[in-house]
Amino acid sequence: MILVFVEDPADELSQQALTFARGLGDEVHAVVVGGEGDGAGLVEYGAATVHAAGHEQLDSYAPAAWAASVQHLVGSLSPSAVIGPGTDRGNEVLAHLAARLDQPMSANCTSLTPGEPATVMRVRWGGSLLEEARLHGSPLLLTVAPHAVAAEAGAGAEASVEQFTPELSDADLVVKISQRESAASAGVSLEDADVVVSGGRGVGSAEGFAVIEELAELLGGAVGCSRAVTMAGWRPHTDQVGQTGTKIAPELYIACGISGATQHMAGCKGAKKLLAINPDPEAPILASADYAVIGDLHEVVPAISREIREAKGA
Ligand code: FAD
Repeated sequence: MILVFVEDPADELSQQALTFARGLGDEVHAVVVGGEGDGAGLVEYGAATVHAAGHEQLDSYAPAAWAASVQHLVGSLSPSAVIGPGTDRGNEVLAHLAARLDQPMSANCTSLTPGEPATVMRVRWGGSLLEEARLHGSPLLLTVAPHAVAAEAGAGAEASVEQFTPELSDADLVVKISQRESAASAGVSLEDADVVVSGGRGVGSAEGFAVIEELAELLGGAVGCSRAVTMAGWRPHTDQVGQTGTKIAPELYIACGISGATQHMAGCKGAKKLLAINPDPEAPILASADYAVIGDLHEVVPAISREIREAKGA
């Protein structure tokens, strides 16, 4: 029996994890913790039984408490594998579970071949490398790389939903979401924008982003940045493009003062066209660029904005 940790029954990536598990040919159970509803719709994705954790302290995300809930079922059901979605939370909960069970865990897998030991294929380096690895442990613990399989409904059976109450300690609730603030966003979001104008360390300061913002606004796009910029505190992390930021696929990505580190490119390699603005003709980003302007962004970007304003007659 395989147990699938479902972060959110309505989320495609959780449904993909269920589809992945179903493909392994064993009976699939699902566990839902603290989510909306009881996940009965998951039966459609192949879960024979949905186990819904109920506890007064599970009202918001708490990684160790969610892992304790999954561990409760590992104890009572003895699954051969626990599989989660390769989301931030899926990876975090499975990593907590692995630590609690003292077992290895493999993140972002695209396939699992059972055996002694099992073999997994997994995505590494922000999607630029596929690694074949042996996975030991009992149960096998892994997460499924986003979009490694398409979420496909199977033959739905009678819904069987079982509530359970995990035992939680104070230590399980030390890290917990206590408050939410929505990001102050004006205009189009980074993920949805057709044009993203991004700034890197070459922008020089938080104030230097005024020219980046102006160009993004003229193009109806969003502002992005590199990690060097978020580390310097010039922009919030929500603006960061890359392996540890947002992954985007705009029609046009304008990278200003960004060198093109692999961790940055992991976030923008889906862009249809890339324009790099950089004074260094040897900058690695030029290898991926469709267009490049070798120059100082503080001259080039305002010049582009000026041309656009003139073309618009503004
Ligand atoms: P730099 O590499 O310092 O490049 C600055 C560029 O600006 C240079 O090419 C320079 O020629 C150019 N420049 C200087 N002056 C000007 C000017 N006046 N006009 C135009 N250009 C100019 N990075 C990310 O971006 N996103 C991530 O998600 C991310 N995740 C990471 C995860 C891990 C585990 C690690 C280890 C690193 C990660 N990084 C990430 C960091 C990454 O390795 C780089 O350090 C970072 O991307 C560099 O940012 P940068 O290109 O802005 O700065």
